Amino acid sequence: MSLRQVPSTSDANDIVHRWRRLTAAIFSHSHEAIVLADETGKIQEVNPAFGQITGFTDDAPASLGAFLFAHPNDANLGRQVWQHLKNDRLWEGVCSARISTGELRRLKIKLLATGQGKNEPGGILAIFHVLRQESETTDLLLIPNHIDAITGLPNRIYFNQILARCISANPAPDQLSALLVLNLDNFKNVNNYLGPSRGDQLLRQIARRLMTCVRSQDGVARLGDDEFGLLLRGLKDVDSAIMTARRLLLALSDPVQVGERDIFISASVGLALYPDHGDNAERLTRNANLAMRQAKKAGRHNFELYSPDMTVQSEDRLALESELRRALGQNQFVVHYQPLVELQNGQVVGMEALVRWNRNGHGLVYPDQFISLAEETGLIVPIGEWVLSQASRQTQRWRNDGWPHLRLAVNLSARQLLWQHDIVDMVESVLADTGLPPSALELEMTESVVMHNVEGAVMAMTKLSEMGVRLSLDDFGTGYSSLNYLKRFPLDTLKIDRSFTRDIPDDPDGVAIVEGILALARSLNLQVVAEGVERIEQYEFLRQRGCEMMQGYLFSRPVPAKQFETLLQQGLELKP
Ligand code: C2E
Ligand code: MG
Ligand code: MG
Repeated sequence: MSLRQVPSTSDANDIVHRWRRLTAAIFSHSHEAIVLADETGKIQEVNPAFGQITGFTDDAPASLGAFLFAHPNDANLGRQVWQHLKNDRLWEGVCSARISTGELRRLKIKLLATGQGKNEPGGILAIFHVLRQESETTDLLLIPNHIDAITGLPNRIYFNQILARCISANPAPDQLSALLVLNLDNFKNVNNYLGPSRGDQLLRQIARRLMTCVRSQDGVARLGDDEFGLLLRGLKDVDSAIMTARRLLLALSDPVQVGERDIFISASVGLALYPDHGDNAERLTRNANLAMRQAKKAGRHNFELYSPDMTVQSEDRLALESELRRALGQNQFVVHYQPLVELQNGQVVGMEALVRWNRNGHGLVYPDQFISLAEETGLIVPIGEWVLSQASRQTQRWRNDGWPHLRLAVNLSARQLLWQHDIVDMVESVLADTGLPPSALELEMTESVVMHNVEGAVMAMTKLSEMGVRLSLDDFGTGYSSLNYLKRFPLDTLKIDRSFTRDIPDDPDGVAIVEGILALARSLNLQVVAEGVERIEQYEFLRQRGCEMMQGYLFSRPVPAKQFETLLQQGLELKP
């Protein structure tokens, strides 16, 4: 066995001396400019090449950051680069520095964070030369605008370049590339709940986990807020891409520790293959996105492989969207009214306004076909305002024409309650315009709306309630209401969802649920409306249990205003 010789103290000193001489020689004779700065970026020392390149001799600039990132377009650049250096300790890129003549010069530069050891002070070493031609940068150098400041991953701009380059490199015919778009589920909620800095920590940890799922030749990038892109190269078959998608979902299934908390976060992944699903970067990206959205629709924490019928569906959707945009201007919406009936005496006490769309060439289209699209596109805001105003005007007319007790219920979507800043002003001005008193209006919102952003919902609802408008929780029992929160909302009414009404009086579970809701409402001092009453037995059951009001086909389907008026004049007939 031979022992490595340990150098004596004088040998060690010798090595240190030689090493110092060598670095001093490199420092003096290098053609590249070398700058030493302290950890705050204050320049401590420069080599002669620095003077030759920049023209500064005895008057080097004080701050490395201000010198390197001098172009107005590079305003954010310095911050991003320092952030990157903290995590990765090395950054290479291109920036514009102002030299002694005042001109800007493009530099190709390498920055190193030094001094990690205990006794070594932290600092920055910069080595650069003037870029001879812009083409020097086209080797997909990590230039500053290419880095995501939070995760240190390439950003969308850079990722698109890598993707385009991968495609133009024409991979071997028997090889596939795959583009995966991964979108976190409900990240916005987590971010709101944790606060943005914890949200950033979460994103960093997720980025790290994703990196462990791919091979060295694959790329991972952050494409946007809660979206990541992965490029897998040189795959033999589609199964390898699917395996990676599964691995990604599995990697995210363990909780992520952020501060003291364990956060569970899932993701939806869309997968598109090159060349099968697109022969250019743009088409491939579009198709991976379509697949990702399909995965979300299919219930999240899921992946979908792109298929051409997704494009057909999305084209249908686009057509629907553009028609929906025109529908309001072309007067294609109508409001139907469904009576709200008092159970004890069979009186019509009011009605729910339900919107329908008279779509060109398609007949009457029901809300389940277009409300979610209207919500996604923001069109629900003008549509919702139109419904409220139309129905309020009509109701006030009926109230003046001999039915002064009538009250109106109108549905409000999440988008309106939480994101329409002037919702309270809007309701107020519609009531003023139409003359309907606030106490004759009830606004219905679903549980998912109010639970999505409890604080926001409580605020908007409180203002509406202070105005005298009544508020009701629609489809009660289908969402995830916390009974605790229920107390905080200024509610007047609960509407039992028709999926529960359907099960009474034969199904014992259904009976238990409806009786439970009635008891809960009583203890919270809320009125109850049972939705979807279709059979006389349901009616009898609800009446015996003291439910105050109901709505359903047993009395009437939603009908146009004219027909509703006839119904008011003639009175209701049960249709057992
Ligand atoms: P919703 O507010 O829960 O309205 C009740 C739905 O149940 C209506 O469907 C109504 O036609 C239906 N319905 C009533 N009685 C019965 C019954 O006895 N049996 C059965 N099977 N169904 C019954 P519709 O009109 O298709 O509306 C569906 C949903 O669309 C509404 O549910 C509401 O959430 C939404 N919606 C309708 N109009 C508007 C609107 O103007 N704005 C917003 N944001 N959403 C609306
Ligand atoms: Mg409703
Ligand atoms: Mg409902």
